[in-house]
Amino acid sequence: MSGYVHIYTGNGKGKTTAALGLAIRAAGAGWDVFFAQFAKGMATSELTALARFEDRITVRQYGRPSFVNGKNPASDDIERAKHGLAECREAITSGRYRLVILDEANLGPLLGLFSVDDLLTLVAARPNDVELVLTGRHADPRLLERADLITEMQEVKHYFQQGVLARTGIEQ
Ligand code: ATP
Ligand code: MG
Repeated sequence: MSGYVHIYTGNGKGKTTAALGLAIRAAGAGWDVFFAQFAKGMATSELTALARFEDRITVRQYGRPSFVNGKNPASDDIERAKHGLAECREAITSGRYRLVILDEANLGPLLGLFSVDDLLTLVAARPNDVELVLTGRHADPRLLERADLITEMQEVKHYFQQGVLARTGIEQ
């Protein structure tokens, strides 16, 4: 069966949630899933939940618990992200995983962790039967060009504008 490249982008809520839902659906179908999270390293409820599917879903985080300084990322942040890309490349080409998710990968170029070319190289390495998902705001147009499916979550209203920050169980 042929696989496709998805991008979930836009400024509205739901990108990571959609990727998580897909991971669970694929695991339910008996697929092996590789779920990688860039730029984030904090413990979150979604990763606790995915741990229940550890026989099917491999989870990796390539960030630190603190936020990346996008204007001047620490060398540790860059090293982790580049190491993450290398691991993701192995996962994509391993023949083991039918679904590979790179959560917040679109933030990599924005935060100066790696380049759009690095991501394009990864996408190009995808065997035809692997389904690949990239999430994160501000997906680069060159990546959009390579995708088969693009969903843009558009903020119509968000309680963030009322000052409501991320809540455990809902956003993290
Ligand atoms: P979710 O993980 O809930 O599916 P997402 O992956 O679409 O959301 P991200 O761009 O990863 O959203 O950002 C999530 C964080 O940014 C949230 O913790 C939230 O508090 C904050 N935030 C600020 N504005 C927005 C917005 N318009 N939509 C979503 N999140 C927002
Ligand atoms: Mg997200």
